[in-house]
Amino acid sequence: MCDPIQAMNGRIIGVDIGGTRTRVGAFSGGELLARRAFPTRGLPEVSEAIRALLAELGWDRPDAIGVGAPSPMDMRAGVIIGCPNLPHWRGVEVTRELGEEFGCPVYLANDATCAAIGELVFGHRARDFVYITWSTGIGGGIVSGGRVVWGATGWAGEIGHMVLEPAGPPCRCGKRGCLEALASGTGIARAARERLGEELSAKDVVQRAREGDRAAGEVVARACRAFGQGIAIVWELLEPELIVLGGGLTRAWDYLGPEVLAAVREMARGDPKVVLTELGDDVGLYGAAALPDHFPREWTSS
Ligand SMILES: [Zn+2]
Repeated sequence: MCDPIQAMNGRIIGVDIGGTRTRVGAFSGGELLARRAFPTRGLPEVSEAIRALLAELGWDRPDAIGVGAPSPMDMRAGVIIGCPNLPHWRGVEVTRELGEEFGCPVYLANDATCAAIGELVFGHRARDFVYITWSTGIGGGIVSGGRVVWGATGWAGEIGHMVLEPAGPPCRCGKRGCLEALASGTGIARAARERLGEELSAKDVVQRAREGDRAAGEVVARACRAFGQGIAIVWELLEPELIVLGGGLTRAWDYLGPEVLAAVREMARGDPKVVLTELGDDVGLYGAAALPDHFPREWTSS
C-alpha cells in the first residue's frame, strides 16, 4: 500500500468555497503555482477562475480538481445540498458540471475535512489529529493513522453539531445547544445581541471584551468555555496527538486561547496539545488540492 501522504503528482486545481471568499489555486508537484481569490458567488465564477489559471500557466486541462464547501452535501454524487450562506450553490452538481467543462475527475468534500487534509499533507504532518475551524461556524476533520476518517457518508467530524446544552440556543442545523450555537462567531454575535442589545460582529465583541467591557467579556468567556468543552470531548474520544485550530476567531488566540485552554484542562484528563494551523487562511485551499489523493476510492465508481 502506498503512503497516504502522497505527492500530489500532476496538475491539480484546488477550490475552497468559503462563506464569504472563494479561493482557487493551481498546484503541481505539491506546489501552489498560481491563485485567485474573490467574494463567493456561484459555479460560473469558479469556472472562470479555473480557466484564467489554466491560461496563465499554459495548461490545456487539469488532471484533477478538488473542491471544499461549507455546506451539507452528497459527497458520492458530488452535489452541494446548500445552506443559507451559499444561495448560489443550492443543488449544484459540482463534480458533473466541472468534470464536463474541464474533462477531468472532480472531488467534493466538506471544507473542514479538506482543511484537515491540508494540515495532514502540508501542515504539522501529525498522523493522529483533529482539525477544528473556529469561525462563523465550527467544523472539524479527523485524521487517524495518517488517514482521513470519513464516516459512512462523509459526515464524520461535524464537531460543531455536538449538543452541549440540550435547552441551549437554536442552531442553524435545527437542533438546540450545539457547540456551534454556543461558541461560533454566529453564536457570539447572537449572544451579544441578547446581552448587549446591539448588532455586533464576533470580532467587535472580542474587541469590546479586550477593552474591558464586562458584558462583552461574559459573552466571550461563555463561548470560550463551550469551545474548550468541545475540544475536551474530542480529546477524550480520540486522544489525538494534536488538536489543530484554524478559522477567523483564532486570530484573537492571544486573548481567547488562555480561557479556552483553561476549560480544556478542567474538562479533559491528561494534557491535550492544542496548536494553531501554520497554513492560515489557505489551509482549506491546500486541502482541496490534496483531496483527489485522499477521497475514498470506493465512492468514485458510480
Ligand atoms: Zn447544530
